[in-house]
Amino acid sequence: MTVQHAPAPELCLTTDVYAAIQTRDPGQSEFHQAAHEVLESLEPVLARHPHYTHHRILERLCEPERQLVFRVPWVDDAGHVRVNRGFRVEFNSALGPYKGGLRFHPSVNLGIVKFLGFEQIFKNALTGLPIGGGKGGADFDPKGRSDGEIMRFCQSFMTELHRHLGEHTDVPAGDIGVGGREIGYLFGQYKRITNRYESGVLTGKGLNWGGSHVRTEATGYGTVYFVSEMLAERGQDLDGRQVVVSGSGNVALYAARKAHELGAKVVAMSDSDGYVVDEHGLDLDLIKDIKEVRRGRIKEYAQTMTRARYVEGGSVWDVPCSVALPCATQNELDENAARTLLAGGVAAVAEGANMPTTPRAVRLLREAGVAFGPGKAANAGGVATSALEMRQNAGRDAWSFEVTDQRLAAIMAGIHTTCLTAAEAYGAPGDYVVGANVAGFVKVADTMLDHGVI
Ligand code: GLU
Repeated sequence: MTVQHAPAPELCLTTDVYAAIQTRDPGQSEFHQAAHEVLESLEPVLARHPHYTHHRILERLCEPERQLVFRVPWVDDAGHVRVNRGFRVEFNSALGPYKGGLRFHPSVNLGIVKFLGFEQIFKNALTGLPIGGGKGGADFDPKGRSDGEIMRFCQSFMTELHRHLGEHTDVPAGDIGVGGREIGYLFGQYKRITNRYESGVLTGKGLNWGGSHVRTEATGYGTVYFVSEMLAERGQDLDGRQVVVSGSGNVALYAARKAHELGAKVVAMSDSDGYVVDEHGLDLDLIKDIKEVRRGRIKEYAQTMTRARYVEGGSVWDVPCSVALPCATQNELDENAARTLLAGGVAAVAEGANMPTTPRAVRLLREAGVAFGPGKAANAGGVATSALEMRQNAGRDAWSFEVTDQRLAAIMAGIHTTCLTAAEAYGAPGDYVVGANVAGFVKVADTMLDHGVI
């Protein structure tokens, strides 16, 4: 049967789509922000290819295929019953099973999960691997919770979520507040409820039970591989450069480590309380010990390392650097921070976190000619390595660290080229924001057209 396409009665320009999102989902400001950034990049694509508009691809892309919101009851160590809210937004499955992490943080709400899931669609497309986009989490605050509380929370969360998952359906992983420990508890409960050893249902697993080498390091390493590609494009490299990394979680730690390995000096890192500056270069083993083993605060670094300085509150972007890697959370690098970075001579900024740079800050950096790597491209190494984990699970195989790392580096180089090619093709040479949005969109949109109106 041929579907009739009368000329679109009113042209669905991106502004109309954006207005509709705002009306339909008021209050989801982070989702609006993420959608706006993509939509504004797409004007030239829509002008050249009107069939996307006729088929209402933008409207369909902006509406998740499925949104799950559920109660997560659990019992704390004092015997009190607690109730949190869990989410999973299964945004788009054109390219493969829904894929994306789970975030446990008190700030999590539907708008945050939708922004993350929306970004994930394009990021996952850019990896070139067969994964759709999704995201989930809960407004649970893991800070200060015991191992037992974390386990009971994860078990309760999975008791509801398991019915929606599957290696061919939806494959969660970690994000803020969800690391190897949580993935272990989630996997254990999934296995127990379903009576299936379905390794490919979660990624970020332990190496003994289906995890992939390099997955832990992948987001941070990938971000630095992407920075190296951007610098190489300008005939430069990381050697000898002063680097500032915001955050001190999994992404930040391994971004700092790889930057250090490539000859850069990482002089500052932060957590939600403040930041540490060490002009000699941070001792990254000490930071890792404080954050991952002791689960402590970054100020402890300056207590142990007396040459370092701790600044309570304030902005880590006040520390001058030539490469800035925002690896903490959304909207952490604003206009003022961008101005300070520019005054300090920043040459490259790459987003290890999801949407850490505000739209105005992005504009300032791009206008100033700074090499700016948006998260969809620069932090895609994490989910790409998750897809490599799924591939190993499907083949009941396990690759060495070296092989997996080489594949990650090749994927990041591929994403870099894809962005530049798309940006060039649509009149924005060298613009990684346009390149990432356009390349991700075209791949997903063309696949949606192939699949018909669903
Ligand atoms: N949470 C990560 C991201 O933002 C990884 C998701 C995954 O591995 O599925 O891309």
